[in-house]
Amino acid sequence: MIISGPSGVGKTTLIERLHDKFDFAFSVSATTRARTEKEREGVDYFFLDEPTFKRWISEGRFLEYAHVFDKYWYGTPRQPVQEQLDAGRIVVLDIEVQGAEQVRAHMPDSFGVFVLPPSEEELHQRLIDRKRDAPEVIERRFAQAREEIAIATAAGQHTYDAHIVNDDLDRATQELDRLLTERLDRIAGSAGG
Ligand code: 5GP
Repeated sequence: MIISGPSGVGKTTLIERLHDKFDFAFSVSATTRARTEKEREGVDYFFLDEPTFKRWISEGRFLEYAHVFDKYWYGTPRQPVQEQLDAGRIVVLDIEVQGAEQVRAHMPDSFGVFVLPPSEEELHQRLIDRKRDAPEVIERRFAQAREEIAIATAAGQHTYDAHIVNDDLDRATQELDRLLTERLDRIAGSAGG
């Protein structure tokens, strides 16, 4: 499952709430951005320098990759995703829209969900309230978010199967639960003939 949505929209909380039920396997991305104090190498991300990231690209080690905020590289290592899929697990890719488009091109059967804030104003306020970033970083993330929302909700887009508005966490969790359950039922139905 691909899950996208602006920083601060609540993707991580949504996924955590359904983790026990669906036994998600998380894809650990690689990035060239700096590690924050709370993040752990190999758990939250693989933190790579730019030459190493570019080498991984040339070695074909990424399922998808993108240059984000005009600044940092982010990418999904291919092999762990394939291993978990082969083991029959639902793999969660928390990636932005350019990466999501690439995954859909390679894996048309993947399931894409885009999480939306109740409004752009509310998202802006959430980014300020969580006190994680400096003001210029907040503005950059907000600008990025507006662009992503425009792409993800454009008429005729093929990247996302569903949009979930995170206006209320319980309601949004139930909606994602229902979408995933329906999807799994359909797969089980078609596998059974
Ligand atoms: P953050 O720096 O807040 O952890 O992530 C910034 C953005 O990069 C988020 O929108 C997140 O979904 C996206 N991202 C994280 N990992 C990947 C990845 O492997 N590939 C792509 N394309 N985007 C990613």
